[in-house]
Amino acid sequence: MQRALGIVEVTDDPADWRWQLRQATRTLDDLGTRLSLTPDEVAGVARAEREGLPLSITPYYLALADRSDPGCPIRLQCVPSAWEAATVPGDLVDPLGEVAHEVAPHLVRRYPDRVLLLATDQCAVYCRFCTRSRVVGDGAGPSPTADLEPAMAWIAAHPEIHDVIVSGGDPLTMATPRLARLLARIRAIAHVDTIRLATRVPVTLPMRVTDELVQALRPLHPIWVMTHFNHPKELTPEAIRACATLADAGFPVMNQTVLLRGVNDDAPTLEGLFRGLVRARVRPYYLLQADPVRGSAHLRTPLARGIELMEQLQGRVSGIALPRLVCDTPGGRGKVPLARDTVVAWTPGKTALRTFRGEIVTYEDPPEF
Ligand code: SF4
Repeated sequence: MQRALGIVEVTDDPADWRWQLRQATRTLDDLGTRLSLTPDEVAGVARAEREGLPLSITPYYLALADRSDPGCPIRLQCVPSAWEAATVPGDLVDPLGEVAHEVAPHLVRRYPDRVLLLATDQCAVYCRFCTRSRVVGDGAGPSPTADLEPAMAWIAAHPEIHDVIVSGGDPLTMATPRLARLLARIRAIAHVDTIRLATRVPVTLPMRVTDELVQALRPLHPIWVMTHFNHPKELTPEAIRACATLADAGFPVMNQTVLLRGVNDDAPTLEGLFRGLVRARVRPYYLLQADPVRGSAHLRTPLARGIELMEQLQGRVSGIALPRLVCDTPGGRGKVPLARDTVVAWTPGKTALRTFRGEIVTYEDPPEF
């Protein structure tokens, strides 16, 4: 059954992404009917109703959560905890220094050749570890075209910018015509080579990836989709179908996993996730050390943990399934790859390397010709 909501036809069909957004769980009362909440979660949700990052979970994503297990990796990512009220040394409201690196309204530049465009504050699910928790979900919605025009003018005036990452919030929560107009505006800037869509929709709202969407966007290629699977439970048939729809329409799909305590900070979980992503034609791109965003310390791991985990996976998992472990340095100074040094000794012409088995192997440089 269909009915009109403004000028948009919406349905009562759970397979319709707009239904999923309208039916998202946003209150303690609603969540309490769907999950057996712990006192910690009750306090966390009550706080999220008053301040900070709001609560929003699509019916689709909530259905992946274990009703009675508070340690469920889906729950940990989307249900607020009382620990969000805690502050610890090193916490930052804006860990990547995006405010300091804003070059035009909604436009952040932290690297020489690329910029980040924050096109909306809305997401399907508000992730409790979100690095942009200071602004997402604040109710503003998608930015009007006129508000983004200074950002477009800035990009057009900087020919060294070759890559525009459209983020938010989640740009795929925008209506297709609005998103297509925005991307067409970016595509009209001759020196922009690639547009990247940073989205968690394939994970939290996969029915959003419709044929209508990919048909509207594919004339604007090259568009890369940067998605964000954190746990194998998220690789459902619906999510895999969304990734296949994107891949079939020519969108390279890359995944950025955030390393999260209790969610994916063990080698078997990461191995299952990375292998599943490759099966879904999604390239594991980054394993990100969680940003020190205020209120998320309970979900972060020590920096050394990620290095240990990557060492356990190195050699055991094919290179195409192994992402790069990086720390996006606090203050917005850029990503730094993390690894223990594999060069154990160096003399002119000879380098001793430690393999994933712990063997020391010497590589000899070629003679000078
Ligand atoms: S979808 Fe992305 S921007 Fe939105 S809350 Fe999650 S991590 Fe933050």
